[in-house]
Amino acid sequence: MTESLHASRDGIRRAATLLREGALVAFATETVYGLGADATNDSAVAAVFVAKDRPRFNPLICHYPDANTALADVVVSAAARRVAEAFWPGPLTLVLRRASRCSISLLASAGLDTLALRVPGHDVARSLLQQVGRPVAAPSANRSGRVSPTTAQHVQAELGGRIAAILDGGPCDVGVESTVLDLCSEQPKLLRAGGTTIEAIENLIGPVASYSGAPNSIRSPGMLASHYAPGLPVRMGATEVEKDEALLAFGSPLPGASLVFNLSDQGDLSEAASRLFAGLRMLDQNAPALGLIRVAAMPVPDHGIGRAINDRLRRASAPRPLKEDSCP
Ligand code: AMP
Ligand code: MG
Repeated sequence: MTESLHASRDGIRRAATLLREGALVAFATETVYGLGADATNDSAVAAVFVAKDRPRFNPLICHYPDANTALADVVVSAAARRVAEAFWPGPLTLVLRRASRCSISLLASAGLDTLALRVPGHDVARSLLQQVGRPVAAPSANRSGRVSPTTAQHVQAELGGRIAAILDGGPCDVGVESTVLDLCSEQPKLLRAGGTTIEAIENLIGPVASYSGAPNSIRSPGMLASHYAPGLPVRMGATEVEKDEALLAFGSPLPGASLVFNLSDQGDLSEAASRLFAGLRMLDQNAPALGLIRVAAMPVPDHGIGRAINDRLRRASAPRPLKEDSCP
């Protein structure tokens, strides 16, 4: 049985107790729902991989209530301090080298000598983290390879029966995952587009490189081409709808679709990001009954948070490996 907890004082206290006991608790953040485990407890962290069917090589982001506690676990550079001050709490994850005194389970960073850290900008998440009093490792609360959950109901559908509790903080405002920025070397690198825009980061610290390693390399496993693939394949940049397609619209919908989800009828990128995963889930669920086999996605401007939307759509349109999570 998975407990449903309200984000009341009692609900948060119960969630914190469960986490401290080593149980798995999903909780709301401003990006997507996370599947939390005490990051210092090896068996709790191992249970996250089992609950999600997640490949062991894919490391987890550790969540902290404030920047000082977070930065104590890593080797901090001046750039890291500036970025943390400017963007935390918020939808940005920093990758830095583990400090020698770092108590995070090695499994959480999947054997890498680096750690991904974040201070979420969501009141419920932060008071939960304060009460746990330990870092909480939390990947998105979905089964591996599926789109991230943005409501407690999505989490229930993905992981109900596999985890101890879900702390319901309502729908996620940002709706796409955090931006992942690697600050381990002189040259900052973008490992994943997300809720903090690259433009805002570059305004603060200058040019950020896109990671140019081999596709599917281990540098940031979340970059695997089909990591966020939903059930139906997506055709991006659609300017007309085929008979066998559902429509993911942005702005005025294209005519002729029998199933439509509009990300934002006003063409607002933030609204579109917050509705993206719910939209993909909705189309996925309803398409088969109508004989639809693909999603036609209208073009979304590729700036600001639009880059994160296009990144997730690109993954949803990538060819799928036969066994989703077995790629190197
Ligand atoms: P999720 O599991 O959906 O929360 O995504 C976490 C993302 O952070 C994935 O893209 C991971 O590959 C990435 N990540 C976590 N830890 C590290 C790390 N130490 N180095 C590079 N990327 C990381
Ligand atoms: Mg994920």
